[in-house]
Amino acid sequence: MAIDFTTYDDDNIFAKILRGELPNTTVHEDDHVLAFLDIVPAAPVHVLVIPKGRYIAQDDFHREASDAEIIAFWRAVAKICDELDGIEDGHRLIANQGGDSGQVVPHFHLHILAGKPLGPLIAA
Ligand code: 5GP
Repeated sequence: MAIDFTTYDDDNIFAKILRGELPNTTVHEDDHVLAFLDIVPAAPVHVLVIPKGRYIAQDDFHREASDAEIIAFWRAVAKICDELDGIEDGHRLIANQGGDSGQVVPHFHLHILAGKPLGPLIAA
């Protein structure tokens, strides 16, 4: 079934993680943000950063979230990138949005990838 990117789905995997219904390996948590290891890492370091609020993708997050949520999100990203082991030689941030991007979880998330040369920006 196609993913609905217009209405927030409270049964999406990250909503379940936020409710504690599914386990995760947390690397950062604060009032507004959770960051955890990707279950299928695409690089030696692969962290997902998500807001705790109900946002589908970057567009509704940046349009509708409070300043406090947005600041907390990006400060958390910077803190994680400062402090994670294996990220000293650089990192890549990716936020997929919608079908063409390959987004599969309809809760806004930022991928932090690092730990090896990451190659071209997109596959040919
Ligand atoms: P997207 O393609 O939506 O940008 O990325 C979704 C990411 O979520 C994928 O990299 C996938 O491996 C990850 N993922 C999917 N299900 C789970 C899960 O249950 N736990 C964790 N930690 N990551 C997941």
